Amino acid sequence: MIAISDVGKSFATRRGPVAALDGISVDVHTGEFLSLLGPSGCGKSTLLRLVIGLLEPDRGEIRVGGRAPSALRRAKQFALVPQTPALLPWRTVRQNALLLTQVNRAGSGGPATDAIGLLEEVGLGEFLDAYPHELSGGMQQRVALVRAFALGAPLLVMDEPFAALDEITRSQMRYLLLRLWEHHQATVLFVTHSIAEAVMLSDRVVVMTGRPGRVAHIEEIALPRPRHAAQEESPEFFALATALRHALHAEVM
Ligand code: ADP
Ligand code: MG
Repeated sequence: MIAISDVGKSFATRRGPVAALDGISVDVHTGEFLSLLGPSGCGKSTLLRLVIGLLEPDRGEIRVGGRAPSALRRAKQFALVPQTPALLPWRTVRQNALLLTQVNRAGSGGPATDAIGLLEEVGLGEFLDAYPHELSGGMQQRVALVRAFALGAPLLVMDEPFAALDEITRSQMRYLLLRLWEHHQATVLFVTHSIAEAVMLSDRVVVMTGRPGRVAHIEEIALPRPRHAAQEESPEFFALATALRHALHAEVM
């Protein structure tokens, strides 16, 4: 689905060029849930912006479904879930959830999933006419997830979507995202700095080096699906989390 080969990207700053990514290569398979795990500033957000065509690489190549990211962008074949939900404050939950679907219907042409059904599925059925300021951070992020899944896009790109939430809400969101993803298949490229989140969600976890970002380690997560919270106490989970912690710490130190 996504082929990232030997991509480099630098930014011009007042203090000279900053290399964000240097020769990163990753393939994401169709239907896969792949997480990027890495220290702050290692280029994770930059890589996502390259994949969705918001930035151009200095060198190397990115193909999404065989096409250039800019084509994917024009055809609106992806949905982005940012760190903060970015809901429109003057629109209700229902209107926010339907927003991208309405804007994009002409673009993607794909069958949009029933947004109201999804809102009910994530426990927001009684909040359809509420405004974002009436919701908790976790509820707002649930609306943002629904908005992304309702689009029916084949690729979902998520940049630390749960980073601003408290630990309990964050762990609930993990399983909510898993249930949505199981029912409404899509390829997911997910960025996190949480080891537990990466293990519980992913098919594979790519650990990145410190800046400039490269691939340090790839871990296959063979935990059975559907995943559930009890697995967080299993020896298999512990072994995977330990392997990722070692790979990550080797980079941070
Ligand atoms: P991460 O998401 O892993 O924390 P980023 O991709 O946001 O990392 O940033 C990687 C590096 O590139 C950082 O050093 C950051 O300061 C720099 N960077 C990112 N975007 C820009 C930009 N638009 N202009 C200048 N420097 C940038
Ligand atoms: Mg980032």
